[in-house]
Amino acid sequence: MMKLPIYMDNHATTPVDARVLEAMAPYFTEKFGNAASRNHSFGWEAAEAVKKARREVASLMGAAPDEIIFTSGATESDNLAIKGVAEACREQTKSSEAVPCSLFPVPYLDRGNHIITAAAEHRAVLDSCKRMEQQGHEVTYLPVDRYGLVDPEDVRRAITSRTILISIMAANNEVGTLQPIAEIGRVAREHGVFFHTDAVQAAGKVPIYVEQMNIDLLSLSAHKMYGPKGVGALYVRRKNPEVRLAPLLDGGGHERGLRSGTLNVPGIVGFGVACRIAADEMQAESERLRRLRDRLQDGLFAELDEIRLNGHPTERLPNNLNVSFGYVDGEALLVGLSDIAVSTGAACTSAKLEPSHVLQAMGVSEELAQSSLRFGLGRFNTEEEVDYVKARVVETVRRLRELSPIYETARAGARSAPV
Ligand SMILES: *Cc1c(COP(=O)(O)O)cnc(C)c1O
Repeated sequence: MMKLPIYMDNHATTPVDARVLEAMAPYFTEKFGNAASRNHSFGWEAAEAVKKARREVASLMGAAPDEIIFTSGATESDNLAIKGVAEACREQTKSSEAVPCSLFPVPYLDRGNHIITAAAEHRAVLDSCKRMEQQGHEVTYLPVDRYGLVDPEDVRRAITSRTILISIMAANNEVGTLQPIAEIGRVAREHGVFFHTDAVQAAGKVPIYVEQMNIDLLSLSAHKMYGPKGVGALYVRRKNPEVRLAPLLDGGGHERGLRSGTLNVPGIVGFGVACRIAADEMQAESERLRRLRDRLQDGLFAELDEIRLNGHPTERLPNNLNVSFGYVDGEALLVGLSDIAVSTGAACTSAKLEPSHVLQAMGVSEELAQSSLRFGLGRFNTEEEVDYVKARVVETVRRLRELSPIYETARAGARSAPV
């Protein structure tokens, strides 16, 4: 009945929902038009489908459809948000008109080039910031606490008269920690600084609304929410305040000139449906995932000692569980769990075998980071699978620890080596 291997790595990507695939299919074949073709019905049909999808994506976050820019995914969206604001501000520094680049009632010329982000952000944000640093911008990387949280007061203190952008993710992709986005948005707005949030993991799991939360730019990716790979969006606020962005790509001037290139019509149609399903089913699905996740977490903690939860105990995505297993090597653990697809504490940079920068930023030791597993539950996981995964993890950890003299010594020493 139950099929192996079991997929429990839904932070990395998700399967396409059958309803999404069905909606996409005609746009590969009979409805193949270019949405930019203005002269015939093939183009109009494609443009109409894109229009509908734009409404569906916008609606998930309470935005207006014309504030959605379709991209190739969240990596591009994060790059466009950060480099786009930085570049637009630089242009204004040079231009004679000196339009204020933010709400702050002082001209941008006096405000400079400072970006605030945090140490546990996704690589797409961190590396975009690093690039801007190389090009003369200043970047503050705020610390996170042991749960992965950014303190909004740290954000406030980091703002200077030269700050142009704050970029803090809504939910972390490794430990699931939910940032106090509304508070950070309020701080940003009070100081007239643009606020970008990478909401890839949060979208469809927890409510995110650009108005209530004072969000000016927001990144999404379809393949993290049961849509296709290679399509995403950047929300770009158009009023109160209007965000000025420089494009990354030059060309046909699609997407209000912010993202040239023929639109990925089937992908965008699928993305739209994925957003509609996410909005409709978010509450029920999040409750179901939370129950399954808690079942896995409680089972592991009941049966294993010397393990530690990474991420916030309550302010966390309902589908995330990240656990360090003391006295066990993460790679050996993964090998032992070959019928289960999960990630280690080195997941996001698995090309290089480095401990996760997220766990490091949270103060987790390198050793424990290496022995961490990230479980990402998803729409298609069942209770039966959760119970199987729990049993396999318990069995594998116990077996590996039997081979570990350090574990035996630690136990004999009455837990003298706390995890
Ligand atoms: C997956 C992910 C990205 C990158 O998204 P792509 O669409 O794969 O480029 C960015 N940010 C977060 C938080 C992610 O989880």
